Amino acid sequence: MSETRLPTWTEVTPGGIVREPGSTLRLDKNGWRVEKPVIDPEKCVRCRLCWIYCPDTAILEVEEPYTNSKGRTYKLTYKVDYDRCKGCGICAEECPVDAIEMVPEEVA
Ligand code: SF4
Ligand code: SF4
Repeated sequence: MSETRLPTWTEVTPGGIVREPGSTLRLDKNGWRVEKPVIDPEKCVRCRLCWIYCPDTAILEVEEPYTNSKGRTYKLTYKVDYDRCKGCGICAEECPVDAIEMVPEEVA
């Protein structure tokens, strides 16, 4: 019977260390979250603050037109890359119009 060996502390990748520029882009942070941000495209005024403040470049600026209920058409739509998002909530804190809601992460 084979035994499954867990990694020791020296073998686990340290979470808080950036070893080289951009290295955190390769980390899948999906499992870190207890809450995830959800952007309401109707409330969003496309100010870009969430994109600027997100520490993990998890806010995507997508060239996808959106027309709101008042008939205003925006060229861009902001979305979340949930593979990069760690659920810190900074984007929701910084959004000036409360267009980002932190909702509980669903456990499969
Ligand atoms: S919750 Fe944090 S990591 Fe996720 S998109 Fe918002 S600012 Fe970025
Ligand atoms: S901070 Fe809020 S209003 Fe500004 S782009 Fe992000 S979601 Fe939209």
